[in-house]
Amino acid sequence: MDRQQEFVLRTLEERDIRFVRLWFTDVLGYLKSVAIAPAELEGAFSEGIGFDGSAIEGFARVYESDMVAKPDPSTFQVLPWEQPEGGHYSARMFCDIAMPDGSPSWADPRHVLRRQLSKAGEAGFTCYVHPEIEFYLLQGLPEDGREPTPADNGGYFDQASHATATHFRRHAIEALEAMGISVEFSHHEGAPGQQEIDLRYADALTMADNVMTFRYVVKEVALTQGVRATFMPKPFTQYPGSGMHTHVSLFEGDRNAFYDPEDPYELSETGKAFVAGLLFHAREISAVTNQWVNSYKRLIVGGEAPTTVSWGRANRSALVRVPMYSPGKASSRRVEIRTLDSACNPYLAYSVILAAGLRGIEKGYELPPAAEDDIWALSETERKAAGYKQLPQNLGEALAEMENSELLPEALGEHVFDFFLRNKRTEWDGYRSEVTPYELRTLLPVL
Ligand code: GLU
Ligand code: MG
Ligand code: MG
Repeated sequence: MDRQQEFVLRTLEERDIRFVRLWFTDVLGYLKSVAIAPAELEGAFSEGIGFDGSAIEGFARVYESDMVAKPDPSTFQVLPWEQPEGGHYSARMFCDIAMPDGSPSWADPRHVLRRQLSKAGEAGFTCYVHPEIEFYLLQGLPEDGREPTPADNGGYFDQASHATATHFRRHAIEALEAMGISVEFSHHEGAPGQQEIDLRYADALTMADNVMTFRYVVKEVALTQGVRATFMPKPFTQYPGSGMHTHVSLFEGDRNAFYDPEDPYELSETGKAFVAGLLFHAREISAVTNQWVNSYKRLIVGGEAPTTVSWGRANRSALVRVPMYSPGKASSRRVEIRTLDSACNPYLAYSVILAAGLRGIEKGYELPPAAEDDIWALSETERKAAGYKQLPQNLGEALAEMENSELLPEALGEHVFDFFLRNKRTEWDGYRSEVTPYELRTLLPVL
């Protein structure tokens, strides 16, 4: 048994923890959990915990369903908000998923990201990310498919026009910090009920785990405040959606490989080629960074979300932005990818953005000129004339791009790639065959 495992076992005893939840993530990004008694943990460390993989979205076919969850002791955290009457805490650990022969499972999103990170490692890079996570607080969830009601009336940076949001953010941040997740900023976002919490940067695997934890913590804390939290990309027709802007940098040892003080954008050749890769592959990775039919309702003009494949400095309509908050500071040179929404699978989304960016570096893609005009203000013809490609306008279009991609089967592995396409085609078919309230409202009275 190694040191970290010993530390976990000792902490269980010292804190009198009764349940250890083993967490992992399915291909669609849902958090899965199996609780075990502390006495089982030693065995779980050495052999893992067996489960039926065919019951998990995207994991296995029925004939090869035996899978094993192996807890990663470096992710051990006590769940701070759970102190039931009896006074016993629970703890959690993320797991890596293995096949019975011990080899890593190709269906495990954590493994997909690990594999991509080791490719980055072979090229000499460590990848750091920090997300700005937007979400809505609602007064409950309407049951009949009607539009929900926001939990407050605040606007961008408002202190609070309703006490729920301020208290909520304080409680949520305390819970996140208690679990070792540092929060850098938090504020009310532009629309009623909309919040944003920005996490302090971490390596990409830790951050993907943090995003999964974040969603869970935020939903739990919301319940304790009598409201509901949702990460749905676009819950309201009239308000902006919830994005998950993701700041990325690559380091070579201690040196930020994206930094060049001589460049007007302080962006090195490596940084530029990375952005070029993101733009070149933007359409084919959309189905992963924006994976739900609803995701494409966010990517429209007017919601501060990108609609075209472009980059710029201050330009918030661009897909990639090079923020200049602290000029001259090498360690903070990064690029901000603005397509991701708060309901993506963070492991897969980080894998595909890294794959696209690294491909740009590897092949030395040329970065097109920056877009410094407001792309939202341009007409379709002007956008075309300026050479901007559109992002896919719906999930069907995104899937067609993904299907023809040569990058994605490699980045995701054939198993996840095939499952994802199949599953998302079903989602798209279900959606496009449904007659919507919009059609009934606008067409039924006149046709
Ligand atoms: N809510 C916007 C989006 O969906 C982003 C607003 C902002 O710039 O923070 O991407
Ligand atoms: Mg924001
Ligand atoms: Mg941002």
